[in-house]
Amino acid sequence: MEYFLSEQQKTIKSLARRIAEEKILPVRAELDEKEEFPWEIMKVLAHTDMFRIFIPEEYEGLGGGCLDLCLVVEELSRVCSAVAISYAAVALGSFALLQYGTEEQKRKYLPDIASGKRLAAFALTEETAGSDASAIRTTAKKVAGGYLLNGTKRFITNGGEAELYTVIALTAKERGARGASAFLVEKDTPGFSFGRKEKKLGIRASSTRELVFEDCLVPEENMIGKEGTGFIITMKLFDHTRPGIGAQAVGLAQGALEAAVDYARQRVQFGHPIISLQAVQHMLADMAIQVEAARALTYAVARTIDSGAKHFTEESAMAKVFASDIAMKVTTDAMQVFGGVGYMRDYPIEKMFRDAKIIQIYEGTNQVLRNTIALELRKRKGIRE
Ligand SMILES: Cc1cc2nc3c(=O)[nH]c(=O)nc-3n(C[C@H](O)[C@H](O)[C@H](O)COP(=O)(O)OP(=O)(O)OC[C@H]3O[C@@H](n4cnc5c(N)ncnc54)[C@H](O)[C@@H]3O)c2cc1C
Repeated sequence: MEYFLSEQQKTIKSLARRIAEEKILPVRAELDEKEEFPWEIMKVLAHTDMFRIFIPEEYEGLGGGCLDLCLVVEELSRVCSAVAISYAAVALGSFALLQYGTEEQKRKYLPDIASGKRLAAFALTEETAGSDASAIRTTAKKVAGGYLLNGTKRFITNGGEAELYTVIALTAKERGARGASAFLVEKDTPGFSFGRKEKKLGIRASSTRELVFEDCLVPEENMIGKEGTGFIITMKLFDHTRPGIGAQAVGLAQGALEAAVDYARQRVQFGHPIISLQAVQHMLADMAIQVEAARALTYAVARTIDSGAKHFTEESAMAKVFASDIAMKVTTDAMQVFGGVGYMRDYPIEKMFRDAKIIQIYEGTNQVLRNTIALELRKRKGIRE
């Protein structure tokens, strides 16, 4: 389908595809098997200026928008979803700083993120606070010279590998959701350490880890935005980053579709390639329809954001929910096309199937995001243009 990408966007997309095929494809199974963070690939992404894409030009970036980021994530995920999320999480970890940081904070940190010298991460989730983010317990107590952080974050993507963390903590416990603030915490800050590294079903090459804060003194100048705006920043952040998760799902589903078509062409049963069977053809056709629909929605939402629109909570949630449900369905059907060998680790479908599930869970579960969409629908009066 023609998506009328600009020349620059076409260049970004084809460069990301080349990196994925030349550098990621040969090592993806090994990285998955060893559950090893893809440092060599991150270095390649840095050398090819991929981290500059989502950073403004004045901070040594390329000034790209949401669609540019989606194109890279999609192409990386077509080959390896774990690499794609390790890359996308850097954008997630940078977003609060990009949108709400002071000039001084931006000058200090963004050029290093743009060059790939420092990876970033975003830390909200805790044992008591998953879908109910307002139940966080990590505190940030005002003391001389800054804020003292205490608490444990869990399931943090790029945990332990990133140099810079955006952390949401309570500055005023009694104020509930209005009592949270956002902080930039550097990896080597005294009192900041890393706990359990999760062993996961899928996206195994990505790091998912606990962050532990024990009397960790964060300088006052590292607060992002104003005290009490931590949750507002978080909600805005997810509105901007969910299309990127949609793109992760689209890329993964595209990879599974291509693998299924290739396999169906060469697998012979009853004297013919199985692609000549209508039952298989219809499965492939449905997969192709779903992938294209998810891509169209994801790109449209990314373009809405890039147009400078003010409200896109609903649309952004739709792209994430729709594309991730499609990725789960398409990888399941792709495994069906492969039959028994699809269940084996010798073929890529087994990994793609495992990698798909998490996309329905993180950055807001699909149930919670359906609540978000329904809430927006309830607020609406009459027919919208
Ligand atoms: C691999 C991985 C990486 C992650 N990366 C990060 C990260 O980088 N940073 C970060 O901060 N977090 C991260 N997370 C956390 C992730 O965002 C949460 O796991 C997710 O939001 C769900 O929270 P939970 O796991 O506590 O599930 P719960 O909130 O306990 O949900 C359990 C079930 O209840 C349902 N449910 C809960 N509330 C409602 C409701 N109101 N209506 C309908 N259904 C509901 C959910 O949909 C789900 O099915 C990561 C998680 C994983 C697994």
